[in-house]
Amino acid sequence: MDYKKLADLLLPNVSSDISIYEKKYPERNVSFVSRFAPSPTGFIHMGSLYTAYISSLFAKKNNGVFYLRIEDTDQKRKVENGIENIINDLEKFNINIDESPIIGGLYGPYIQSERKEIYLSYAKYLVENGMAYPCFCTKEELDEVRKEQESLKERTGYICKWAKCRNLTFEEIKKNIDNEVSYVIRLKAPGNFDKKFEFKDLIKGKLMLPENDNDIVLIKSDGLPTYHFAHIVDDHLMHTTHIIRGDEWLSSLPVHYQLFRVFGFKVPKYAHVAPINKKDNNTIRKLSKRYDPECNIAYYFEKGIPVEVIKLYLATLINSNFENWYTNNIDKDISEFNFEFNKMSVSGPIFDLEKLISLSKTYFSTLKAEKIYDGLLEYYKIYNKEFYDLISKYKEYTINILNIERLKKRPRKDLSCYSDFMNLFSYMYDEYYDKIEKVNLIKDYDKILNDFIDTYSGDDDEELWTSKIKEICFKYNYASNMKEYNDNPALYNGHITDVCTLIRLAITYRYESPNIYEILKVMGKERVSKRIDSFIKEAQ
Ligand code: GLU
Repeated sequence: MDYKKLADLLLPNVSSDISIYEKKYPERNVSFVSRFAPSPTGFIHMGSLYTAYISSLFAKKNNGVFYLRIEDTDQKRKVENGIENIINDLEKFNINIDESPIIGGLYGPYIQSERKEIYLSYAKYLVENGMAYPCFCTKEELDEVRKEQESLKERTGYICKWAKCRNLTFEEIKKNIDNEVSYVIRLKAPGNFDKKFEFKDLIKGKLMLPENDNDIVLIKSDGLPTYHFAHIVDDHLMHTTHIIRGDEWLSSLPVHYQLFRVFGFKVPKYAHVAPINKKDNNTIRKLSKRYDPECNIAYYFEKGIPVEVIKLYLATLINSNFENWYTNNIDKDISEFNFEFNKMSVSGPIFDLEKLISLSKTYFSTLKAEKIYDGLLEYYKIYNKEFYDLISKYKEYTINILNIERLKKRPRKDLSCYSDFMNLFSYMYDEYYDKIEKVNLIKDYDKILNDFIDTYSGDDDEELWTSKIKEICFKYNYASNMKEYNDNPALYNGHITDVCTLIRLAITYRYESPNIYEILKVMGKERVSKRIDSFIKEAQ
C-alpha cells in the first residue's frame, strides 16, 4: 500500500510535516511540568480539585510549571459555561496556574477544540507511516462484533481478526471516500496482548501491564480527535513531564504508553491518583458528586468554610504525615511541606467531613479577629445582605465580638465557618436580640438583676467581677460555690451558676454563650442595662 497516497486521500489539505509543531513548541527549561486537563462537563468537585491540587503542589515543590488544558473534544459531553465554571472554581481556590486559556502561554492554545489542525497533522503523519488507517464500520456493525465477542467469551475491541478495515485495499478505501462513507481513523496497534511490559507508577509502584492490541480510534468521524490521541499529542508538545490524573485512567495506560512509543516520543512519568472515598455504614465507596453534598464545592461556599481549610484538609488526605507537620508549623504555607508520591494512599484516602470541620475550627482559632471580619464581610455580602449591612455598620463592635476568648493562649474554638458567626453571635446586635419563649426564672431574679446592674462597672477585672457576683449570691442566699451547694442543697435557693445563667439569659436570651464576663465587656454597660431592664419588664 502506498501510505503517502492514502494519507493524501484522507486528509488532502493537512500537512503531515509535524516538525513544524516540534519546532513551534520547544523544550522547556524546567524539570517538572504537570497539568490539569478537565473536560468542561460541569463544576469542579472535590475529586477533581484534589487531583488538580496535587498536580499544582508537586509543580511548586519542584519549581516547575503547572498548566490548565481544557479537553473538550467530546462535543456530546460539553455543557454551557463549562470552561468558565472550571476556571472560576480554580480561581476561587487560588491554585497557582502558570498557563491556561485565560493566562495564555507559549504552548497554547490550551483548549483542545482549538488545536484541531495539530491533531490532524499528527494523524496524517501516522497514516503516511503505515501506523493508522481509515475504518468505515458503522456503529451497528461494531455493536454486532461486540455482541459476538461477548457470546464467544472473547476480549472485546477492534482487535485481531475483528479489525476488518485493517486489511482494506487502497481501491476499496478510495471507493468509500468517493461515496462519502463516514469513517474514523484508527491506530494500527502494534502490541501483543499476551506480552506484558513493566511500568512504574509513582503512586501505585511497579505494574506489569499487557501490551495494547486494540486499534483504538484516533480521529472521530466529526474530524475531532479522541481523548486518547489528543492528550498524547498535547502532553508531548506541551512537554508534560508528569501526568497526574485519576486512576480510572490506569486501564487505558497501555494504549497511551503505546501511542507515545509509536511516535517515538519520550513517555512522561505517571502518578495515578486513587479516588477520595467515604465510609458509608460498613462499606467504603467513592465520594460521589451525586449522593454526597460534601463532594460539591458549592457546599463549602454556602456554609462559608474558607478555601484555605479545604486546601489544608486535602493536604492531610494527600500525605497523612502532613497533619503532624501542620500542627507544628501552623503559620507556614502548605506548599512548604515536602509532599511525596510514595506516601500517597494506593487505594484512596477517606473523606471525613467532621474532621474537616474540626480542622476548620482550629484554623479559625489561629486567625486574627480583623482577618475573620474581612471574611465575614465577603461571605455575608453574598449570602445575607441584611447581616452584611449590620456588621459593616458596627465594625469595631464586631471585631470585639470576634475577640471574645480569642486573645489568649488557647483561643475558643467555636467558629467552623462564616455562617456560624451569625448563628452564634447574632444576639450581640440589638437588631437581632430576639427573645426566647420560655425561660426559667430563679427566685428573686429581678432583685438579683437590679443589684447586678447597680454594682456592675465595665472596668472591673474578672476577679473583682466574680467577687461582686458572689456578694449578690450571699445576699439572696445562693451558694457561691458548687461544693457548698452540693453539701447542703436544701439550705440554698440555688447556686452561683444559676445566677450567672440568669445574667446570661437576660442579656443574650440564650442558655449558652462564651464567657459571660467577656460578653458583658464587649456589650458595654449601657447596652447591658437596657437589656436587663427590658428583660425584667418582659418577665413580669
Ligand atoms: N480529560 C480527562 C478527564 O476528564 C483528563 C485525564 C488526564 O488527566 O489525562 O478526566
